[in-house]
Amino acid sequence: MFEPPIIQSDKSKYKAYGLRNFHKIPQLSKLSSKMKFEIDVVARIFPFKTNNYVINELIRWENVPDDPIFRLTFPQKEMLLPGHFQRIANLLQLGAEKDEIDREINKIHAELNPHPAGQMEDNVPLLDGERLSGIQHKYRETLLFFPSKGQTCHAYCSFCFRWPQFIGNDAYKIALHETSHVVKYLRKHPEISDVLITGGDPMIMKAQTLQHYIEPILKADLPGCRTIRIGTKSLSFWPYKYLIGSEAEETLALFKRIVDSGKHLAIMAHFSHPRELSTKAVRLAIKRIRKTGAEIRTQSPILRRINDDPDVWSQMWKKQISLGCIPYYMFVVRNTGAQHYYGLPLQQTYNIFKNAYQQVSGLARTVRGPSMSTLPGKIQIIGIFEIHGEKVFGLNMLQSRNPELVMKPFFAKYNPNATWLDQLKPAFGEKKFPFE
Ligand SMILES: *Cc1c(COP(=O)(O)O)cnc(C)c1O
Ligand code: SF4
Repeated sequence: MFEPPIIQSDKSKYKAYGLRNFHKIPQLSKLSSKMKFEIDVVARIFPFKTNNYVINELIRWENVPDDPIFRLTFPQKEMLLPGHFQRIANLLQLGAEKDEIDREINKIHAELNPHPAGQMEDNVPLLDGERLSGIQHKYRETLLFFPSKGQTCHAYCSFCFRWPQFIGNDAYKIALHETSHVVKYLRKHPEISDVLITGGDPMIMKAQTLQHYIEPILKADLPGCRTIRIGTKSLSFWPYKYLIGSEAEETLALFKRIVDSGKHLAIMAHFSHPRELSTKAVRLAIKRIRKTGAEIRTQSPILRRINDDPDVWSQMWKKQISLGCIPYYMFVVRNTGAQHYYGLPLQQTYNIFKNAYQQVSGLARTVRGPSMSTLPGKIQIIGIFEIHGEKVFGLNMLQSRNPELVMKPFFAKYNPNATWLDQLKPAFGEKKFPFE
């Protein structure tokens, strides 16, 4: 039914690497022992996972450690605050007991704001008085669904705000075992048009498992629910998912079934760098997915040292357009984990967005950003102005808990160093922002 896949059996056999076996990665033999020790230290705090596709086809090892894909996937010393790094490094060098190291790791985790934007407490809905821990309903039209089997990824991005759920601490996990709750909830909330299946990466699941989650939604007669979205990094980190064997065929057949059922299927693909769109495998995977009738929309945060350059973004959007993908969001990196490493001042982020946006045709200007996913909503930076002698940021809510606030611009005092909403103050002598 779909294009014949490229079969390169040596390349396409999945092999994962992490803290336990990373020293077996052949390319790492070229790195200094100091760098390998740093990877070991940082990987104790931030989860680390990569695979043979990322290592062999995405990273350009001759550019390491500056290579953007290496930076995206491998732990870097500076991701830890110096004090945190030293605490773990000392324990390892002293040959401390595992218990002692684990206690220190837990302490540091708790200091890293593991749940930004009320992730755990504020967005969890109730059904018949019971808290539904695997779904979030923050914006009126869209329900987030975290299927419990999809809460890991093919590789981990070190900036990811989902890092707490990869570290094996159950208290941090947000998951639900049954789609039946989702269906019940959707029935009670006909205002929800979109179900966004997210993770982790739902495409880590076998086709059959994913089908088990989606089928009940298709079978239930829910006229309000028009769109199934799947958030995934699989096109960047494991495109063979869509190319090899019966798994690929079943996955694509499921996509096609969703489309044939009359729903819109949107694959929300994370791409952080044009390199991720450059391999034969990803191009073919995109082509095969689009053949099912699914649309691919793309998003990424802007990350210092990885994609903090307007040319990188304009190139990436142009490549996406030529592959038939639709640029969707550019995010400001969240205030969690290694934000101090990846974060950029909002003014710089805005300027990169603007300069990149100026370089592309209207087809790529479907992208919205730069946007902060904050507790009150998704807040876009729309400009830097001087009004009546006061320098200000123009802001706009793209999404809000209160839909009335969407598309009503407001202003914050200009602060050249601010990297997040909590560092902004209302402009023009206002006491508070509209969402406060
Ligand atoms: C981003 C987001 C959505 C989806 O928003 P869209 O603008 O429709 O893509 C839904 N729920 C939450 C909690 C989000 O952060
Ligand atoms: S693939 Fe997505 S969910 Fe997984 S680590 Fe990267 S950003 Fe996070």
